[in-house]
Amino acid sequence: MNVHVEVAAALPAAAAAAAGALDARAKRVAEEAARHADAVDRAGRFPAEAVAALKAERLLGIQVPRSLGGEGASMSEIAELCAILGRACSAAAMVFAMHHIKLASLVTHGLDSAWHCTLMERIASEQLLIASSTTEAGIGGDLRNSLCAVEAEGDTFRLTKEASVISYGAQADLILATARRHKEAATSDQVLVALLSDQITLERTSVWDTLGMRGTCSDGFLLKAEGLPLAQVLQKPFAEIAAQSMLAASHLLWGSVWFGIASYAVDRARAFVQGEARKKPGQVPPGALRLAEAANALQAMKSTVVAGLARYEAAKGDPDALSAIGFSIMLNNVKTTVSAQAVDIVQRALSVVGIAGYKNGTPFSLGRQLRDVLSAPLMISNDRILSNTANLLLVQKGSGKLLSA
Ligand SMILES: Cc1cc2nc3c(=O)[nH]c(=O)nc-3n(C[C@H](O)[C@H](O)[C@H](O)COP(=O)(O)OP(=O)(O)OC[C@H]3O[C@@H](n4cnc5c(N)ncnc54)[C@H](O)[C@@H]3O)c2cc1C
Repeated sequence: MNVHVEVAAALPAAAAAAAGALDARAKRVAEEAARHADAVDRAGRFPAEAVAALKAERLLGIQVPRSLGGEGASMSEIAELCAILGRACSAAAMVFAMHHIKLASLVTHGLDSAWHCTLMERIASEQLLIASSTTEAGIGGDLRNSLCAVEAEGDTFRLTKEASVISYGAQADLILATARRHKEAATSDQVLVALLSDQITLERTSVWDTLGMRGTCSDGFLLKAEGLPLAQVLQKPFAEIAAQSMLAASHLLWGSVWFGIASYAVDRARAFVQGEARKKPGQVPPGALRLAEAANALQAMKSTVVAGLARYEAAKGDPDALSAIGFSIMLNNVKTTVSAQAVDIVQRALSVVGIAGYKNGTPFSLGRQLRDVLSAPLMISNDRILSNTANLLLVQKGSGKLLSA
């Protein structure tokens, strides 16, 4: 059973049919993404063809509510699309996931702001691509602190941010950036600001020449905005936005991309072992045992992502449930668990296919997938997340129940 079948089983028939239609659109994008994935990786270039296909299939606006011109797609439906794309091109899948993580914050927290509603209408109609700027020089991956600040002057503001990593910053139509609420605010008193690409300047300060995820083009930039309407600042504290939408969307959609990468690797290993079995009928190839272990680990990984999605869908719309300590711990655990599992699974698959996987350009090549998936434990360091969980555990009461939280 795949993730879609499990998630679809919980959906009414009409919603399941709509999810099927989304899958078909994502599969067409995945075919285009797969055709260019090696070239994107080699050149470390933006997956332009895949993103053009995402726009042509109108998949960038699906999360926007129907009342604003979107399709009201759920997190589970978007997760399935991340997995489909992750099998084809990790970078294109991560671009799609990061776009929808940012859109989740707008959809969850922007509906009472006329400016942000108009923005969501534009995202759906013009298929605007959204990037994220949380990481900052001097702060690193500590999402819940900022040094830069919104500096208000009457009804307008200015912002200067040393953004040390913004994936596809040069290609995005819109950047959602964290900043302190005002110049005197504490580093943890943050807001989320929407910045259109034609309203800002981006001076490149570092180039993303990395081991993997090369096509995300996550360069560093000095970001400057001046004279922008204060209406572009989401009024809700970023602490609530992070807890109620961003944390869940990040860990569940990243996890779905990594599941896509891992499931592709296991499929390659299965095809390899089946080929060996056909060569020597009557004998079980030696790699079959390792394949069984990889398939076992993949199932455990899938169960973790699917259980996280189910908990999120059940809590959605209930700010208290989404802000609960147990819910944050669950999401942190999803991230640290599946990011490590994904690396382990791709390595196991590589050990099954051997040199045919280590070499580039064979039907079993897994070098790109291994390099890409190694980013998973670093993408907000697992150590940082575990130390956050450690703090939360000091005050959490365990339930010990199997079927409920
Ligand atoms: C593919 C990819 C795309 C990305 N895209 C974006 C993007 O679009 N926008 C964006 O803003 N950022 C982006 N990032 C950056 C990401 O969100 C993190 O900020 C970044 O991965 C953290 O970098 P760092 O390793 O320097 O970690 P830091 O958080 O700076 O930590 C450095 C080291 O210190 C250790 N450490 C730090 N704090 C603790 C702690 N409390 N407990 C234990 N150990 C600790 C960690 O183990 C880590 O190794 C991206 C990263 C990747 C890999």
